[in-house]
Amino acid sequence: MSAPSGLPSQPPPASQVPSRTRLAPSPTGALHLGNARTFLLTWLWARNAGAGVTLRMEDIDSPRVKPGAAREALFDLRWLGIDWDEGPDLGGAFAPYTQTERLARYEEALAKLRARGLIYPCVCTRKEIEASASAPHGPEDDGARYPGTCRGRFATADDARKLSGREPAWRFLAREGPVSFDDLFAGAQSHDVSRSVGDFVVARAQGPAYQLAVVVDDAAMGISHVIRGDDLLSSTPRQLLLYEALGLAPPAFLHVPLVVGKDGLRLAKRHGDTRVSSYRERGVKPERLVGLLASWSGLLPRVQETSA
Ligand code: GLU
Repeated sequence: MSAPSGLPSQPPPASQVPSRTRLAPSPTGALHLGNARTFLLTWLWARNAGAGVTLRMEDIDSPRVKPGAAREALFDLRWLGIDWDEGPDLGGAFAPYTQTERLARYEEALAKLRARGLIYPCVCTRKEIEASASAPHGPEDDGARYPGTCRGRFATADDARKLSGREPAWRFLAREGPVSFDDLFAGAQSHDVSRSVGDFVVARAQGPAYQLAVVVDDAAMGISHVIRGDDLLSSTPRQLLLYEALGLAPPAFLHVPLVVGKDGLRLAKRHGDTRVSSYRERGVKPERLVGLLASWSGLLPRVQETSA
C-alpha cells in the first residue's frame, strides 16, 4: 500500500518481516455466518500466504459485551476449522490478547497524544451533537460530524469536569486534508476525516474507544495485514491519522464486502437465525458450513443456504 502523506514510507524489506494478520472478534453476541465468512477469508489469506494469525478479543465495549460470548466465539471458530497461532487461550509473544487486559497500553498512547496537544476533553452528549444545526452526517453509523464544540474549551480534564459536571471523553484533533491509502480489495481510497467525521472520540468516560485500541494493538502485535469487513472501511482513515500521530507504521488493509441477504441488506437477525451454533445444534457439519461460506465468496460454485 502507499503510505498516507506524512507516514513513514520505507518499511523494512519484506523478507525480514513475517506477515501477520489477526482475527478480532468482539464478544457482543454470537458468531454468525456474516462474521464467520470474514474470519474464514482472513484465515484463508493467512494460511495461503504463510502469514501468522493472532486472535485478539476486543472486549472493551463493556455495555455490549455478553457473558460467555468470548469463549463461545473461540469454540465456534475452532469448530469451523479456523485456528490461530497466538491468542488469549494460547498465549504468545505479544500477550495479553484480550483488550481489557491491555488498558495500560491505551493509557500510554493517550498520554502521548495529550502531551502532543492532539487530543482534548469533550463533554458533549450525542444528543447535543445531533442537535447542532450545521452538522452534516459522517459515514453511516458514525452519526453527525462533530462540530468542534469543545475544541479549545477546557484547559484540562479537571476543568471540563468542574465546569460541566460530566466525566469527559477525549477527542482527537482531525487534521484537514485527505487521508489516502490503497485498499488491497477496495482499491484507492481518500477521505478527509475533518470533513466527514470531524474530531473523533479516542476515549470515552468509561475507557478507551475502538479506534485507539485497535491501532495500539495492531502496531504492538506487529500486524502487517488488517483484513476485515468493509463496514470498517470508513474507520481506516481515522486509524491512519492515529498511526501518524503516534509515529507508528501502518499495516496494509484489505476490506472484504459483508454478506448480504436476498434483500441486499447486511445479513442480520431480520434474515433469521444465522448463528454458527444454531447450525451445529441442528446437526449441520462444519465442512458444509465452510462450503457455504466459500460459495458465497466465489470460491466454490454457488449453493443455497437451505441446502447446507
Ligand atoms: N472487533 C471488531 C468487530 O468485531 C473488528 C475490528 C477490526 O477488525 O478492526 O467488528
